[in-house]
Amino acid sequence: MNLIIDAHQDLSYNILSFGRDYSRSVYETRRLEADHPVPGLKYQSLLGWPEYNRGKVALVFGTLFAGPLRAEKELYPNQQVYRTPEEANRIYWNHLNLYHRLAEEKPEVYRLILTKSDLRNHLQEWEKQPPDPQPSDYLPLGIIPTMEGAEGITDFSELPLWWENGLRSIGLAWAGNQFCGGTREPGPLTDLGRQLLHEMAKTGFILDLSHMDEPAALECLEVYPGQIIASHSNVASLVKGYFTNRLLSDQVLKQLIERGGVIGVVPLNAFLNWDWCADGGREAVSLRLVAEQIDHICQVAGNCDQVGIGSDFDGGVGLEHVPHELDSIADLQKLTTFLQDLGYNEQEISKIFSGNFLRVVESVLPG
Ligand SMILES: [Zn+2]
Repeated sequence: MNLIIDAHQDLSYNILSFGRDYSRSVYETRRLEADHPVPGLKYQSLLGWPEYNRGKVALVFGTLFAGPLRAEKELYPNQQVYRTPEEANRIYWNHLNLYHRLAEEKPEVYRLILTKSDLRNHLQEWEKQPPDPQPSDYLPLGIIPTMEGAEGITDFSELPLWWENGLRSIGLAWAGNQFCGGTREPGPLTDLGRQLLHEMAKTGFILDLSHMDEPAALECLEVYPGQIIASHSNVASLVKGYFTNRLLSDQVLKQLIERGGVIGVVPLNAFLNWDWCADGGREAVSLRLVAEQIDHICQVAGNCDQVGIGSDFDGGVGLEHVPHELDSIADLQKLTTFLQDLGYNEQEISKIFSGNFLRVVESVLPG
Protein backbone atom coordinates (compact mmCIF):
# COMPACT_ATOMS: atom_id res chain seq x y z
CA MET A 1 0.00 0.00 0.00
CA ASN A 2 1.15 3.50 -0.83
CA LEU A 3 1.20 6.27 1.76
CA ILE A 4 -1.39 8.97 1.20
CA ILE A 5 -1.08 12.72 1.69
CA ASP A 6 -4.46 14.44 1.88
CA ALA A 7 -4.26 18.13 0.99
CA HIS A 8 -7.46 19.27 2.70
CA GLN A 9 -9.27 18.39 5.93
CA ASP A 10 -11.15 20.73 8.26
CA LEU A 11 -10.02 19.02 11.47
CA SER A 12 -9.99 22.00 13.85
CA TYR A 13 -13.34 23.22 12.49
CA ASN A 14 -14.98 19.90 13.34
CA ILE A 15 -13.30 19.61 16.71
CA LEU A 16 -14.28 23.14 17.76
CA SER A 17 -17.75 23.20 16.18
CA PHE A 18 -19.02 19.73 16.94
CA GLY A 19 -16.72 18.38 19.65
CA ARG A 20 -15.42 15.66 17.36
CA ASP A 21 -12.48 13.70 18.75
CA TYR A 22 -10.41 12.25 15.93
CA SER A 23 -8.40 10.05 18.28
CA ARG A 24 -11.54 7.86 18.26
CA SER A 25 -12.39 5.43 15.52
CA VAL A 26 -14.89 6.76 13.00
CA TYR A 27 -17.33 4.04 14.12
CA GLU A 28 -17.20 5.16 17.74
CA THR A 29 -17.78 8.77 16.64
CA ARG A 30 -20.80 7.70 14.58
CA ARG A 31 -22.23 5.70 17.49
CA LEU A 32 -21.77 8.55 19.97
CA GLU A 33 -23.27 11.12 17.60
CA ALA A 34 -26.27 8.85 16.87
CA ASP A 35 -26.91 8.46 20.60
CA HIS A 36 -26.31 12.13 21.40
CA PRO A 37 -27.07 14.26 18.31
CA VAL A 38 -24.87 17.35 18.01
CA PRO A 39 -26.75 20.58 17.16
CA GLY A 40 -26.03 21.72 13.60
CA LEU A 41 -24.30 18.50 12.61
CA LYS A 42 -26.08 16.86 9.69
CA TYR A 43 -23.62 14.28 8.42
CA GLN A 44 -21.61 11.30 9.62
CA SER A 45 -17.86 11.45 10.01
CA LEU A 46 -15.38 9.74 7.70
CA LEU A 47 -12.31 10.31 9.87
CA GLY A 48 -10.66 8.61 12.85
CA TRP A 49 -7.17 7.74 14.02
CA PRO A 50 -7.47 3.97 13.45
CA GLU A 51 -8.80 4.63 9.94
CA TYR A 52 -5.94 7.01 9.07
CA ASN A 53 -3.61 4.18 10.06
CA ARG A 54 -5.49 1.42 8.24
CA GLY A 55 -5.56 3.57 5.09
CA LYS A 56 -1.94 4.73 5.42
CA VAL A 57 -3.01 8.38 5.38
CA ALA A 58 0.16 9.71 6.96
CA LEU A 59 -0.19 13.44 6.47
CA VAL A 60 -2.97 15.98 5.98
CA PHE A 61 -3.17 19.68 5.40
CA GLY A 62 -5.29 20.72 8.40
CA THR A 63 -7.25 23.91 7.81
CA LEU A 64 -7.82 27.00 9.86
CA PHE A 65 -11.37 27.60 8.71
CA ALA A 66 -14.39 29.65 9.70
CA GLY A 67 -17.11 31.08 7.49
CA PRO A 68 -18.37 34.63 7.18
CA LEU A 69 -21.69 34.89 9.00
CA ARG A 70 -23.60 36.00 5.87
CA ALA A 71 -22.90 32.70 4.10
CA GLU A 72 -22.77 30.40 7.08
CA LYS A 73 -25.95 31.37 8.89
CA GLU A 74 -28.10 28.61 7.51
CA LEU A 75 -25.39 26.08 6.85
CA TYR A 76 -23.64 25.65 10.18
CA PRO A 77 -25.32 27.21 13.19
CA ASN A 78 -22.33 27.17 15.50
CA GLN A 79 -19.63 29.43 16.78
CA GLN A 80 -17.00 29.08 14.03
CA VAL A 81 -18.27 32.06 12.07
CA TYR A 82 -17.09 35.65 11.95
CA ARG A 83 -18.63 39.03 11.25
CA THR A 84 -15.41 41.01 10.77
CA PRO A 85 -11.83 40.29 9.69
CA GLU A 86 -10.77 40.90 13.31
CA GLU A 87 -13.08 38.10 14.46
CA ALA A 88 -11.74 35.86 11.69
CA ASN A 89 -8.20 36.61 12.89
CA ARG A 90 -9.06 35.55 16.45
CA ILE A 91 -10.76 32.35 15.28
CA TYR A 92 -7.89 31.35 12.96
CA TRP A 93 -5.37 31.80 15.77
CA ASN A 94 -7.58 29.58 17.96
CA HIS A 95 -7.48 26.92 15.24
CA LEU A 96 -3.70 27.09 14.84
CA ASN A 97 -3.21 26.99 18.62
CA LEU A 98 -5.53 23.98 18.77
CA TYR A 99 -3.25 22.02 16.40
CA HIS A 100 -0.30 22.84 18.65
CA ARG A 101 -2.24 21.79 21.75
CA LEU A 102 -3.35 18.50 20.15
CA ALA A 103 0.25 17.68 19.19
CA GLU A 104 1.41 18.43 22.74
CA GLU A 105 -1.39 16.66 24.58
CA LYS A 106 -1.85 13.64 22.31
CA PRO A 107 1.52 13.14 20.59
CA GLU A 108 0.62 9.53 19.84
CA VAL A 109 -2.29 10.76 17.66
CA TYR A 110 -1.28 14.16 16.23
CA ARG A 111 2.05 15.53 15.05
CA LEU A 112 2.71 18.95 13.54
CA ILE A 113 5.06 18.84 10.58
CA LEU A 114 6.94 22.12 10.56
CA THR A 115 10.35 21.40 9.03
CA LYS A 116 11.97 19.20 6.40
CA SER A 117 13.46 16.99 9.10
CA ASP A 118 10.04 16.60 10.80
CA LEU A 119 8.72 15.49 7.43
CA ARG A 120 11.56 13.07 6.71
CA ASN A 121 11.39 11.42 10.14
CA HIS A 122 7.61 11.23 10.04
CA LEU A 123 7.44 9.53 6.65
CA GLN A 124 10.29 7.14 7.47
CA GLU A 125 8.31 5.98 10.50
CA TRP A 126 5.15 5.50 8.42
CA GLU A 127 7.06 3.60 5.71
CA LYS A 128 8.08 1.04 8.33
CA GLN A 129 4.56 0.47 9.64
CA PRO A 130 3.29 -3.09 8.97
CA PRO A 131 0.68 -3.40 6.17
CA ASP A 132 -2.16 -4.38 8.50
CA PRO A 133 -1.41 -2.26 11.57
CA GLN A 134 -2.69 -3.28 15.00
CA PRO A 135 -3.47 -0.57 17.59
CA SER A 136 0.04 -0.91 19.02
CA ASP A 137 1.42 -0.07 15.55
CA TYR A 138 -0.65 3.09 15.09
CA LEU A 139 1.33 6.22 14.26
CA PRO A 140 0.47 9.89 14.72
CA LEU A 141 -1.24 11.76 11.92
CA GLY A 142 1.04 14.47 10.51
CA ILE A 143 -0.60 17.87 10.14
CA ILE A 144 0.49 20.82 8.00
CA PRO A 145 -1.54 23.90 8.89
CA THR A 146 -3.21 25.73 6.03
CA MET A 147 -5.54 28.73 6.00
CA GLU A 148 -8.75 28.40 3.99
CA GLY A 149 -9.84 31.95 3.17
CA ALA A 150 -7.48 34.77 4.12
CA GLU A 151 -10.07 37.08 5.64
CA GLY A 152 -8.38 36.71 9.03
CA ILE A 153 -5.17 38.27 7.75
CA THR A 154 -5.75 41.77 9.03
CA ASP A 155 -2.14 42.95 9.12
CA PHE A 156 0.48 41.83 6.60
CA SER A 157 3.23 42.32 9.17
CA GLU A 158 1.69 39.36 11.04
CA LEU A 159 2.53 36.94 8.19
CA PRO A 160 5.97 35.98 9.56
CA LEU A 161 4.31 35.19 12.91
CA TRP A 162 1.81 32.89 11.22
CA TRP A 163 4.75 31.17 9.51
CA GLU A 164 6.73 30.86 12.76
CA ASN A 165 3.70 29.16 14.27
CA GLY A 166 3.54 26.57 11.51
CA LEU A 167 1.19 27.96 8.87
CA ARG A 168 2.57 26.93 5.49
CA SER A 169 -0.21 27.46 2.95
CA ILE A 170 -2.86 30.13 2.39
CA GLY A 171 -5.95 30.11 0.20
CA LEU A 172 -7.04 33.68 -0.46
CA ALA A 173 -10.73 32.93 -0.75
CA TRP A 174 -13.51 30.77 0.56
CA ALA A 175 -16.36 33.14 -0.19
CA GLY A 176 -15.44 36.52 -1.65
CA ASN A 177 -13.48 38.85 0.62
CA GLN A 178 -11.26 41.94 0.67
CA PHE A 179 -8.62 40.12 -1.40
CA CYS A 180 -10.57 38.48 -4.24
CA GLY A 181 -13.77 36.84 -5.42
CA GLY A 182 -14.59 33.36 -4.20
CA THR A 183 -17.24 30.66 -4.22
CA ARG A 184 -20.74 32.09 -4.84
CA GLU A 185 -19.27 35.62 -4.54
CA PRO A 186 -17.33 36.19 -7.78
CA GLY A 187 -14.83 38.96 -8.39
CA PRO A 188 -11.25 39.72 -9.44
CA LEU A 189 -8.11 40.05 -7.38
CA THR A 190 -8.12 43.42 -5.56
CA ASP A 191 -5.15 45.72 -4.93
CA LEU A 192 -5.13 44.43 -1.37
CA GLY A 193 -5.06 40.89 -2.74
CA ARG A 194 -2.03 41.77 -4.89
CA GLN A 195 -0.27 43.19 -1.83
CA LEU A 196 -1.06 40.05 0.14
CA LEU A 197 0.46 37.87 -2.60
CA HIS A 198 3.59 40.01 -2.55
CA GLU A 199 3.93 39.61 1.23
CA MET A 200 3.13 35.87 1.14
CA ALA A 201 5.86 35.34 -1.44
CA LYS A 202 8.41 37.12 0.77
CA THR A 203 7.68 34.65 3.58
CA GLY A 204 7.45 31.63 1.26
CA PHE A 205 3.87 30.42 1.68
CA ILE A 206 2.17 27.97 -0.68
CA LEU A 207 -0.70 29.72 -2.46
CA ASP A 208 -3.91 27.66 -2.64
CA LEU A 209 -6.27 28.57 -5.51
CA SER A 210 -9.24 26.43 -4.39
CA HIS A 211 -12.43 28.51 -4.01
CA MET A 212 -10.96 31.48 -5.91
CA ASP A 213 -13.02 32.97 -8.70
CA GLU A 214 -11.52 32.36 -12.16
CA PRO A 215 -10.22 35.88 -12.99
CA ALA A 216 -8.52 36.10 -9.60
CA ALA A 217 -6.99 32.63 -9.96
CA LEU A 218 -5.67 33.45 -13.44
CA GLU A 219 -4.01 36.64 -12.23
CA CYS A 220 -2.47 34.75 -9.28
CA LEU A 221 -1.02 32.23 -11.73
CA GLU A 222 0.64 35.07 -13.61
CA VAL A 223 2.04 37.01 -10.68
CA TYR A 224 2.69 34.68 -7.72
CA PRO A 225 6.32 33.61 -7.83
CA GLY A 226 6.04 30.85 -5.20
CA GLN A 227 4.52 27.38 -5.09
CA ILE A 228 0.86 27.16 -6.18
CA ILE A 229 -1.67 24.38 -5.58
CA ALA A 230 -5.41 23.82 -5.76
CA SER A 231 -5.77 21.75 -2.59
CA HIS A 232 -9.34 20.53 -3.12
CA SER A 233 -10.75 21.22 -6.59
CA ASN A 234 -12.02 19.01 -9.36
CA VAL A 235 -11.99 19.87 -13.06
CA ALA A 236 -15.31 21.55 -13.86
CA SER A 237 -15.57 20.44 -17.49
CA LEU A 238 -15.85 16.77 -16.41
CA VAL A 239 -18.65 17.41 -13.91
CA LYS A 240 -22.12 16.79 -15.29
CA GLY A 241 -24.59 19.63 -14.70
CA TYR A 242 -21.96 21.98 -13.23
CA PHE A 243 -22.82 25.68 -13.44
CA THR A 244 -21.12 27.64 -10.64
CA ASN A 245 -17.63 28.99 -9.88
CA ARG A 246 -16.31 26.52 -7.30
CA LEU A 247 -14.30 24.11 -9.48
CA LEU A 248 -11.37 24.54 -11.89
CA SER A 249 -11.97 25.90 -15.37
CA ASP A 250 -9.94 24.40 -18.21
CA GLN A 251 -7.97 27.63 -18.44
CA VAL A 252 -7.00 27.64 -14.74
CA LEU A 253 -6.14 23.93 -14.97
CA LYS A 254 -3.90 24.49 -17.98
CA GLN A 255 -2.02 27.40 -16.43
CA LEU A 256 -1.74 25.68 -13.05
CA ILE A 257 -0.10 22.76 -14.80
CA GLU A 258 2.24 25.10 -16.68
CA ARG A 259 3.22 26.63 -13.35
CA GLY A 260 4.09 23.18 -11.92
CA GLY A 261 1.14 23.21 -9.52
CA VAL A 262 -0.56 20.20 -7.94
CA ILE A 263 -4.33 19.66 -7.85
CA GLY A 264 -6.03 17.76 -5.03
CA VAL A 265 -8.98 15.82 -6.46
CA VAL A 266 -12.05 15.70 -4.20
CA PRO A 267 -14.06 12.47 -3.75
CA LEU A 268 -17.37 14.23 -3.05
CA ASN A 269 -20.38 13.22 -5.11
CA ALA A 270 -21.57 16.73 -5.94
CA PHE A 271 -18.07 17.64 -7.19
CA LEU A 272 -18.13 14.56 -9.45
CA ASN A 273 -21.68 14.97 -10.73
CA TRP A 274 -23.34 18.32 -9.97
CA ASP A 275 -26.75 16.77 -10.70
CA TRP A 276 -26.25 14.26 -7.88
CA CYS A 277 -28.30 14.95 -4.80
CA ALA A 278 -28.25 13.13 -1.50
CA ASP A 279 -31.71 11.64 -2.23
CA GLY A 280 -30.13 9.81 -5.16
CA GLY A 281 -28.07 7.82 -2.69
CA ARG A 282 -24.41 6.94 -2.51
CA GLU A 283 -24.87 4.05 -4.96
CA ALA A 284 -25.29 6.55 -7.80
CA VAL A 285 -21.64 7.66 -7.70
CA SER A 286 -18.52 5.51 -7.98
CA LEU A 287 -14.88 6.13 -7.13
CA ARG A 288 -14.32 5.53 -10.81
CA LEU A 289 -15.27 9.20 -11.37
CA VAL A 290 -12.45 10.22 -9.00
CA ALA A 291 -10.01 8.09 -10.99
CA GLU A 292 -11.31 9.74 -14.19
CA GLN A 293 -10.67 13.22 -12.73
CA ILE A 294 -7.13 12.14 -11.87
CA ASP A 295 -6.65 10.60 -15.31
CA HIS A 296 -7.87 13.77 -17.04
CA ILE A 297 -5.37 15.94 -15.15
CA CYS A 298 -2.56 13.50 -16.01
CA GLN A 299 -3.61 13.54 -19.68
CA VAL A 300 -3.63 17.36 -19.82
CA ALA A 301 -0.28 17.53 -18.02
CA GLY A 302 1.26 14.74 -20.07
CA ASN A 303 2.62 13.21 -16.85
CA CYS A 304 1.53 11.96 -13.40
CA ASP A 305 3.32 14.71 -11.47
CA GLN A 306 0.57 17.24 -10.90
CA VAL A 307 -2.32 15.57 -9.19
CA GLY A 308 -3.04 14.30 -5.70
CA ILE A 309 -5.93 13.92 -3.28
CA GLY A 310 -7.67 16.67 -1.29
CA SER A 311 -10.54 14.80 0.32
CA ASP A 312 -12.31 17.62 2.22
CA PHE A 313 -13.78 14.78 4.32
CA ASP A 314 -15.95 16.11 7.18
CA GLY A 315 -15.79 19.55 5.49
CA GLY A 316 -19.49 20.29 5.58
CA VAL A 317 -20.28 16.89 4.10
CA GLY A 318 -19.83 13.33 5.26
CA LEU A 319 -20.46 9.65 4.67
CA GLU A 320 -23.79 10.44 3.02
CA HIS A 321 -22.07 12.49 0.30
CA VAL A 322 -19.17 10.35 -0.93
CA PRO A 323 -18.94 7.54 -3.52
CA HIS A 324 -20.45 4.26 -2.38
CA GLU A 325 -17.10 2.43 -2.18
CA LEU A 326 -15.99 4.70 0.69
CA ASP A 327 -16.98 4.00 4.27
CA SER A 328 -14.12 5.94 5.85
CA ILE A 329 -10.79 7.59 5.00
CA ALA A 330 -9.22 4.09 5.09
CA ASP A 331 -11.02 3.28 1.83
CA LEU A 332 -9.17 5.92 -0.20
CA GLN A 333 -6.78 3.02 -0.89
CA LYS A 334 -9.55 1.52 -3.06
CA LEU A 335 -8.65 4.16 -5.66
CA THR A 336 -5.65 1.97 -6.49
CA THR A 337 -7.77 -0.57 -8.37
CA PHE A 338 -9.59 2.10 -10.37
CA LEU A 339 -6.31 3.74 -11.36
CA GLN A 340 -4.82 0.37 -12.30
CA ASP A 341 -7.86 -0.24 -14.52
CA LEU A 342 -7.01 3.01 -16.32
CA GLY A 343 -3.46 1.78 -16.88
CA TYR A 344 -1.54 3.42 -14.03
CA ASN A 345 1.40 1.53 -12.56
CA GLU A 346 2.62 1.33 -8.98
CA GLN A 347 5.13 4.15 -9.32
CA GLU A 348 2.59 6.48 -10.91
CA ILE A 349 0.00 5.70 -8.23
CA SER A 350 2.58 6.44 -5.54
CA LYS A 351 3.13 9.91 -7.02
CA ILE A 352 -0.61 10.54 -7.12
CA PHE A 353 -1.21 9.31 -3.57
CA SER A 354 1.66 11.18 -1.94
CA GLY A 355 4.71 11.94 -4.09
CA ASN A 356 3.37 15.05 -5.77
CA PHE A 357 2.14 16.87 -2.67
CA LEU A 358 5.28 15.69 -0.89
CA ARG A 359 7.35 17.54 -3.50
CA VAL A 360 5.32 20.70 -2.88
CA VAL A 361 5.67 20.46 0.89
CA GLU A 362 9.40 19.75 0.72
CA SER A 363 9.90 22.80 -1.47
CA VAL A 364 8.56 25.19 1.18
CA LEU A 365 9.38 23.68 4.56
CA PRO A 366 12.36 25.18 6.34
CA GLY A 367 15.31 22.79 6.91
ZN1 LIG B 1 -13.21 24.25 0.89
